[in-house]
Amino acid sequence: MRRRSSASEPALVAAARRAGVTDPRVLAAVAAVPRAAFVPRSARRLVDEDRPIPIGEQQTTSQPSLIASMLASLHLDGHERVLEVGTGTGYEAALLSHLVAEVHTVERYASLAEQARQNLAGAGCTNVHVHVGDGTRGWPDAAPYDAIVVAAATAEVPAALAAQLIDGGRLLAPVGGSGGQELIRYVARDGHLYEDRRIVPVRFVPLVPE
Ligand code: SAH
Repeated sequence: MRRRSSASEPALVAAARRAGVTDPRVLAAVAAVPRAAFVPRSARRLVDEDRPIPIGEQQTTSQPSLIASMLASLHLDGHERVLEVGTGTGYEAALLSHLVAEVHTVERYASLAEQARQNLAGAGCTNVHVHVGDGTRGWPDAAPYDAIVVAAATAEVPAALAAQLIDGGRLLAPVGGSGGQELIRYVARDGHLYEDRRIVPVRFVPLVPE
């Protein structure tokens, strides 16, 4: 039986449930992060809709239920240090900030990174560190990570990322061409990534190396 959402439940929490998210910590994070604080002012009327939103620089932020599903698939317990590649608005990093101990996130556009820093500060997320750079190289200064989330499409997972995970660490990436990708979870063993689970077909903006 599908659980009905209560009248007072935020629309995006209900959307995450409909997408199959059951982890109470992930649902609580979706409830706690105000998406309105992360999207451009012109898109504020769309914040309660479970749809992608354009964020400038020809980039988009994904529908929240997909981000929630992604983060749920990592089974985070709160003690982790996580790297996100592709900060965008900082919304996913904000969800992560509620789910783990420390977040590092890398964005190639300085303008988006600066906006994300402001968004995250406004939402009170103090355990997120936003870096400007080429995320295909990861962020070695803060490695190793317990998990890495790649938030942009790539034909293959950049080799540098595997080396920045702890043994047994998990990496999530939309892998495929520009027409569409599959969200794949990998596990790191001895510096190599092994495919662990294919989660869902997705369509992300491309990961662009420097
Ligand atoms: N996670 C974001 C949405 C990500 S959209 C959110 O919650 O809003 C993908 C982002 O990846 C875009 O902002 C894009 O500029 C960035 N990106 C693309 N290639 C990159 C690279 N090589 N390094 C870092 N960021 C990159």
